Amino acid sequence: MDLGITGKRALVCASSKGLGRGCAEALAAAGVDLVLNARGAEALEATAEAIRADHGVQVTAVAADITSEDGRASVLAEAGDLDILVTNAGGPPPGLWSDWAREDFIAALDANMLTPIALMTELMPKMIDKGWGRVVNITSQSVKAPIPQLGLSNAARTGLTGYVAGTARQVAPFGVVVNNMLPGIHATDRAIQLDGGVSQKEGISLEEAKARREATIPARRYGTAAEFGAMCAFLCSQHAGFIVGQNILLDGGGTNATI
Ligand code: NAP
Repeated sequence: MDLGITGKRALVCASSKGLGRGCAEALAAAGVDLVLNARGAEALEATAEAIRADHGVQVTAVAADITSEDGRASVLAEAGDLDILVTNAGGPPPGLWSDWAREDFIAALDANMLTPIALMTELMPKMIDKGWGRVVNITSQSVKAPIPQLGLSNAARTGLTGYVAGTARQVAPFGVVVNNMLPGIHATDRAIQLDGGVSQKEGISLEEAKARREATIPARRYGTAAEFGAMCAFLCSQHAGFIVGQNILLDGGGTNATI
């Protein structure tokens, strides 16, 4: 399928690895020029080079912490004119409800709610002027069904979801389409980190921890970054103009809900 976005320009945040990289690769395969971002310059450059080589699109790499004001300013200064925004950042640490103080919530809200909001606030006015734009926010299945040990994530991502629900409907009349993608368990560094936590807590091997988590998913496996990226590219395509303010769950059936 021709996604109709060849020659558009996208900022994909937190994209040297994992789900962000999956989104960047799928957009590049659709002919989209990219601005990639992550904190670690080495992995970021390697990803940028691999995408240039595989897809022949222009790739600008900006090493910066997207959750800091300075980091965002340097990314936006390099980014230039953008048609597509994919927001992403690392998730907050796990813990117990009684572990967290105000500062922990402020940090989580900053990273996973206020950062995507700041990027949308900065970039959507130009998309509105052009009469076309696409925004995809990477959130989590925890928006649909809470993951108890990820209380900081549950809180911040649900806040973002509420914001998007209203804002998406305010910008849709101007051709700007905003949606969220909710990953369930995907085979990335983050998933391996969480497997490691289970393995330590339960005193079992990493393989056993993974097998136990896979058994909870009807598809009986983790998702891949490529599958995730393909959905992201579709939501950024010409064909997605009537999908507004939605929360697209990619979880292999892991969330047991009728809708
Ligand atoms: P990942 O494999 O660990 O990759 C994270 C990427 O983001 C890396 O490129 C990392 O590079 C970059 N990054 C992290 N913090 C950043 C920051 N502050 N500024 C700029 N770049 C940053 O993680 P993932 O699995 O793709 O997860 C992506 C998001 O989806 C996370 O918020 C995660 O919580 C959420 N999620 C993932 C899953 C899953 O199963 N994978 C499930 C639900 C939700 P640097 O470290 O070099 O910055």
